[in-house]
Amino acid sequence: MKKIFLGAPGSGKGSYASRIAPKRNIPHISTGDLFRKNLKEGTKIGLTAKGYMESGALVPDEVVVEMLKERIEEEDCKDGFILDGFPRTIPQAEMLADITDMDIAINMNVANEIIVQRLSSRISCKDCGEIYNLRDLNPKVEGVCDKCQGEVVRRKDDEPEVVQNRLKTYEEQTAPLIKFYEDKGILRHVTCDNIDTPADEMAQSVLETIEQFTKELEEKVSEVLGLPDNE
Ligand code: ADP
Repeated sequence: MKKIFLGAPGSGKGSYASRIAPKRNIPHISTGDLFRKNLKEGTKIGLTAKGYMESGALVPDEVVVEMLKERIEEEDCKDGFILDGFPRTIPQAEMLADITDMDIAINMNVANEIIVQRLSSRISCKDCGEIYNLRDLNPKVEGVCDKCQGEVVRRKDDEPEVVQNRLKTYEEQTAPLIKFYEDKGILRHVTCDNIDTPADEMAQSVLETIEQFTKELEEKVSEVLGLPDNE
C-alpha cells in the first residue's frame, strides 16, 4: 500500500512513519531525511537544498520530485512505501499523481500549541534522522542514537525563528493538500489533542485508521463485484 503521511512540522508524522514502516515491511521515505543525507554528502541536490532548508522555506518542486521519483523507483518500493514530508505543495501532488497512484493520505490533526511545544523540544539523530524529544522521548544514552549510535542534536531548523517560518510555509503551501486528497476520496484524519499521548499509541491509531480504510475499500470492491459479505 502506498501511503502519504500529511501534517505540519512537529505533527509527529515522521515518528509514526518510522514505527509503522518496519511493521509493514515497506520503506519510510522522508524527503527531509533525503535532503539532509544529500547535504551531509555534499551532493548537488544537497547544495541546492541547503539555503531553503536553513530558512524554513521549501526546496523547489522540480528538485524534490526528481529526487523522490528516483527513490520510489528502487526495488524496495515495489510493495508500497510511506511518504513523509512529500508532497508538500499542490504541484508536487500533481506531479506525484503522474508518476504513481497513491492509496491513502493520512492527515495528522494536531493543535498548534502542541506543535510549537513539540518542535521546541525536538532532537534528532544527525546520521539516521531518528526523532527524539527532550520532554518524554530521550535516547537511552544522552546524545547517542538508540538505533545507529549517531549523535543526537537539535536541528538548525528547529530553532524558534525558523520554526515560525516553517509553520507559515505549511499553512500557505501544504495545508491545501488536505482538500486535494479529500477530493480524491483517499483522505483520513488522525487527531492528537494531548501532548502526553505516547508516540507508540498514536502510531497504533494511525495503523488502525489504515486498517479501517482497507476494510472499507474491500467492502466497496465486494459491493461492486456483487460478492456476499464474508461474515
Ligand atoms: P518537518 O516536516 O519537520 O518540517 P522535514 O525534515 O520534512 O521537516 O523537512 C525539512 C526541510 O526540508 C523543509 O523545511 C524543506 O526545506 C525541505 N523539504 C523536505 N521535504 C520537502 C518537500 N516535499 N518539498 C520542498 N521542500 C522539502
